[in-house]
Amino acid sequence: MASKKVPMGPDKSIGLVAHDNKKRDLVEWAKYNRVLLAHHKIYATGTTGQMLEEELGFEVVKLQSGPLGGDQQIGAKIADGEIDFLIFFWDPLEPVPHDPDVKALLRMAVVWNIPIACNRSSADFMISSPLMDEEYDRLVPDYDVYRDREIGEEDR
Ligand code: PGA
Repeated sequence: MASKKVPMGPDKSIGLVAHDNKKRDLVEWAKYNRVLLAHHKIYATGTTGQMLEEELGFEVVKLQSGPLGGDQQIGAKIADGEIDFLIFFWDPLEPVPHDPDVKALLRMAVVWNIPIACNRSSADFMISSPLMDEEYDRLVPDYDVYRDREIGEEDR
């Protein structure tokens, strides 16, 4: 499939989400990288966002708590091009009630080819990339091909 370029500016819109057992980890990581994060716009699920705002001291756009729809809100913003970066520390050892939403959010990140880090070492590599503070053309498959697909009479 052909692709389209989606420009990402030097100031990114970053979604930050952490499951309960991973929140400490994410907050520590964000505090350590506070200066690097400061010029980006941060979106977070409710509880994660509350903790980040308290610890970082700058404004975080807080959405619903994850199990109440926050993951889906982040996914919708990725589809709308409002979030172009995701740090999502999900817990591999604990089932969560909104498991389908977690899967859906990870799927949206792949559909729209946005950078995602699901653990601290990936987040470290990403935040220290020179591309973090530069313009970057993200290649997204040209979904017009999908939108314009033929629907056979039998599928209508
Ligand atoms: P929370 O949601 O930040 O509101 O706890 C995180 C999640 O479970 O997706």
